Amino acid sequence: MTEKLHIIGGGMAGSEAAWQAAEAGVPVVLHEMRPQVGTFAHRTGDFAEMVCSNSFRSDDDEQNAVGLLHWEMRAAGGLIMTTADRHSLPAGGALAVDRDAFSADVTARLRAHPLIETVGGEITELPREGHWIIATGPLTSGALAEAIRAETGADALAFFDAIAPIVYAESIDMDVAWRQSRYDKGETEEERTAYINCPMTREQYETFIDALIAADKTEFREGETAKYFDGCLPIEVMAERGRETLRFGPMKPVGLTNAHDPAVKAYAVVQLRRDNALGTLYNIVGFQTKMKYAAQTEVFRLIPGLQDARFARLGGIHRNTFLNSPTLLDPWMRLRSRPNIRFAGQVTGVEGYVESAAMGLVAGRLAAAELLGRDVPPPPRETAMGALIAHITGDAEATTFQPMNVNFGLFPPIEAKGGRRGRKDRYRAYTDRAKEAFSHWLQHGSVASADAGTAA
Ligand SMILES: Cc1cc2nc3c(=O)[nH]c(=O)nc-3n(C[C@H](O)[C@H](O)[C@H](O)COP(=O)(O)OP(=O)(O)OC[C@H]3O[C@@H](n4cnc5c(N)ncnc54)[C@H](O)[C@@H]3O)c2cc1C
Repeated sequence: MTEKLHIIGGGMAGSEAAWQAAEAGVPVVLHEMRPQVGTFAHRTGDFAEMVCSNSFRSDDDEQNAVGLLHWEMRAAGGLIMTTADRHSLPAGGALAVDRDAFSADVTARLRAHPLIETVGGEITELPREGHWIIATGPLTSGALAEAIRAETGADALAFFDAIAPIVYAESIDMDVAWRQSRYDKGETEEERTAYINCPMTREQYETFIDALIAADKTEFREGETAKYFDGCLPIEVMAERGRETLRFGPMKPVGLTNAHDPAVKAYAVVQLRRDNALGTLYNIVGFQTKMKYAAQTEVFRLIPGLQDARFARLGGIHRNTFLNSPTLLDPWMRLRSRPNIRFAGQVTGVEGYVESAAMGLVAGRLAAAELLGRDVPPPPRETAMGALIAHITGDAEATTFQPMNVNFGLFPPIEAKGGRRGRKDRYRAYTDRAKEAFSHWLQHGSVASADAGTAA
């Protein structure tokens, strides 16, 4: 008899992990605290409740990295995607669902599975023995979060994200911007040129401040306290405190010489810092914000050098419990200090329903493989799931780690061949390559025993 796999949290990730492991033939105990213990965002006691939007975003598996994740999850018989497909609503190119019918169906399918036992109630301590997946999400209960913190160290578990926007490097105009670290600090040439700098004249700065102050902002939700204001003020709040505040904060121009025009001193400088080992993504330093997404794009494109910027993700500040996964998790998503515990979902530092469910899918499969004594590697990094895992478990800069959506900037760059040019062809090349690699992983990394599986 195979040992049981315990999963804490019946959200997007925990539900998917339970399904994958059970379909592979491993008995699962799924622990969920709702409805006994609630959160400020959930309304029901159902599994996989969608706390806000009812959309799984783009369903385009050729041109969009989220759509590609959908494809991979469907290919792997994912519970979340196959159930979403049953309850989809017309939404253009997006996959939107009837949220109540969707969660009720996920709940029914999990409860009906012969290898899944569901148990109500909050888990308040880190399990010492057995095999566990922790998938307690952005609103992990306080007691469990404290227990995780005691294990990982205070700095390794965050309670809020303060996300600065992330820009695709290739969309930055390097005829305007230049590479230089402040005061040319660093031992190596790479360190001395670690930042990309965007200069502003006084006039450009004043226009930018006006736009920041006038932009549409998102209000804080009930239950989201403003504690995180210490040390990570949204830029628009800084701008409201004084027109010069940003110029003496994240936009200070000191220690920098414009490589394109060395004689002219910039009035203010916006700095971008490399966000991944591949060098394809850059975050705008200190630019966490509560501006609405449409306003962010408009305002940030006022920055010289970013006039054509494309964003891998926009900024935000939310209540969000997440690990410093690059330092804490191994590539199999196990806690390095206690490998009998895996993490999955948003708590690992991915962001969004789809990404969270995808991480649940992989964690469920890898945990099942381990329990069944099979040697299964994580999905290759050419796949959407593999690219996300590689990012959170190693590629991302640990010191500035913030939650990440899936995007093509996480994939190993691809040389477009055979006359393929332009972004559309490149994205198609990424998704073609990913599908092939994922199919291969599924085939060769299959965890299911011959007699397992109930078929969806
Ligand atoms: C307010 C808010 C709005 C959001 N809006 C969106 C959106 O519009 N679109 C989007 O894609 N993403 C959104 N997200 C992110 C979203 O939460 C995640 O994308 C997704 O739900 C995370 O999946 P998960 O499985 O990691 O966590 P969840 O889906 O939150 O599941 C975690 C589960 O663990 C349970 N749990 C927590 N602690 C314990 C414990 N100690 N013991 C037992 N059970 C426990 C919780 O009750 C919950 O059911 C939002 C997040 C928040 C907080």
